[in-house]
Amino acid sequence: MAEEQQYDLVVLGGGPGGYVAAIRAAQLGFKTACVEKQNALGGTCVRIGCIPSKALLDSSELFEQIRDKSAVHGISVPPPTVDVAKMHARKDGVVKANTDGVAFLFRKNKIDWVRGFGRLTSPETIEVQGEDGTRTLRAKTIILAPGSVPVELPFLRYDHERIIDSTGALTIPEVPGHLVVVGGGVIGLELGSVWLRLGAKVTVLEMAPTILPGMDGEIVRQADRIFRRQGFDIRTETRVTGAERQGDRVVVSVEGQDPIEADYLLVSVGRRAYTEGMGLEEAGVRLDRGVIQVDQNFHTGVGSVYAIGDAIGGRMLAHKAEEEGVAAVEIAAGHLGDVNYDAVANVVYTWPEIASVGLTEEEAKAAGREYRVGKFPFQANGRARAAAETDGLVKVLADAHTDRLIGVHMLGPRCSDLIAEAAFAMEMHASAEDIARSVHAHPTFPEALKEAALAVDGRTIHL
Ligand code: FAD
Ligand code: NAD
Repeated sequence: MAEEQQYDLVVLGGGPGGYVAAIRAAQLGFKTACVEKQNALGGTCVRIGCIPSKALLDSSELFEQIRDKSAVHGISVPPPTVDVAKMHARKDGVVKANTDGVAFLFRKNKIDWVRGFGRLTSPETIEVQGEDGTRTLRAKTIILAPGSVPVELPFLRYDHERIIDSTGALTIPEVPGHLVVVGGGVIGLELGSVWLRLGAKVTVLEMAPTILPGMDGEIVRQADRIFRRQGFDIRTETRVTGAERQGDRVVVSVEGQDPIEADYLLVSVGRRAYTEGMGLEEAGVRLDRGVIQVDQNFHTGVGSVYAIGDAIGGRMLAHKAEEEGVAAVEIAAGHLGDVNYDAVANVVYTWPEIASVGLTEEEAKAAGREYRVGKFPFQANGRARAAAETDGLVKVLADAHTDRLIGVHMLGPRCSDLIAEAAFAMEMHASAEDIARSVHAHPTFPEALKEAALAVDGRTIHL
């Protein structure tokens, strides 16, 4: 039996939650290891999630700009063509730069990456099954960050050829004639946008009454109109009952509708915590439908074992996992650690982009909050006009009595960047008046946020 390796802190999982936790632990002077079973660090986000999807979104956006948006600027270009293999190669290069970057950060911070599948064998030990055998890591503190995997529907089993999950949709080798997407959530709309822009017909089958359920209703209604104008065939309140392979085609059965023939069927109906086979329950960690149960300090209730990221539930977002990683390590080190979930922004990287932080109007109403609303359309923003990107609006919700921001929602150009100001303002417990009084450079997209904040008090200047 190999000797145990001793650490101060071991992280299980090298995704954005786990690798950031490991770096923070090393910064605090802990002898740290991170167990990761894949042959690259970075987790879902870096390898098969945020980064490759944004690489394809940026490539396809450029393609669409050249094809559809040049003429309005007086630029004539021949219709562009796309080399999908090259587009994928660029994406793979972007992913590699990022996974290598995490490996570099590990070396710089003297963190050991232990490759293999980890199992919690006691509150202080993790057994790692690697290519070179099994070894045991012993640590005073363990942070579980095993992340999540796509939900698989029993009547729509993935064959990973034509019935695919998000990972498959990131590697489709040619522009599909027809891509059918089950689930009009964030993955369906982002990856649907990639292939739609490149020329595919894209049909989105969504069970709920609207796409993007849970986001601010007014923003979703406007986005839905724009997406349909872009060519998405969006069918809400639509129930898929099965799919059958017929050679290279997939025939999708839909309740009450004719079957739909597709080249690829992307099933993107959510993700679930990935926690099986890791000895968690045996070690006393409580799971609820696979989700690791933690208290407000990310503690599992077992020894000095903490858990973070997608595997503990809540919003499945990389930046949420990262902040939890930092907070859990700081708490384990005896410092104060906290994540302000009210100020966690959420972005959908379609074009126009959708971004939000805080309560939606529906949530504010349901909570009985008294609030005031200020809105400003990009149509009235000088920079948006200059850029010929005038779709969408910014909407600010502020407490009716204190004027404190309770939610900010946006649809429009570069909203993934614009939301940072709103998230910061929420973190600082700012009021709408604080944003309204801040000097914003002119002409810029963020002026739309300032104007929406002014609108809360009926003082919009440019409308
Ligand atoms: P993960 O990133 O899932 O990492 C967990 C890691 O643990 C994995 O590498 C896994 O191999 C490893 N692991 C698990 N169990 C073991 C074990 N027993 N032993 C060894 N290793 C193990 N979020 C955003 O905020 N912005 C986006 O733009 C965005 N885009 C996305 C696009 C797609 C297509 C997808 C699928 C997701 C996207 N997400 C995005 C979500 C984001 O990827 C996740 O929220 C984030 O990766 C969660 O981080 P995590 O560290 O909790 O888990
Ligand atoms: P999602 O929860 O965003 O959307 C799933 C959609 O599928 C929902 O609209 C739901 O109503 C619908 N649905 C569920 N069952 C269905 C069925 N049987 N038939 C038809 N529709 C059905 O999930 P996702 O798009 O798979 O993404 C998973 C998670 O990954 C997201 O929730 C998010 O946390 C994360 N993610 C984030 C980003 C980002 O931050 N930009 C991007 C991609 C993924």
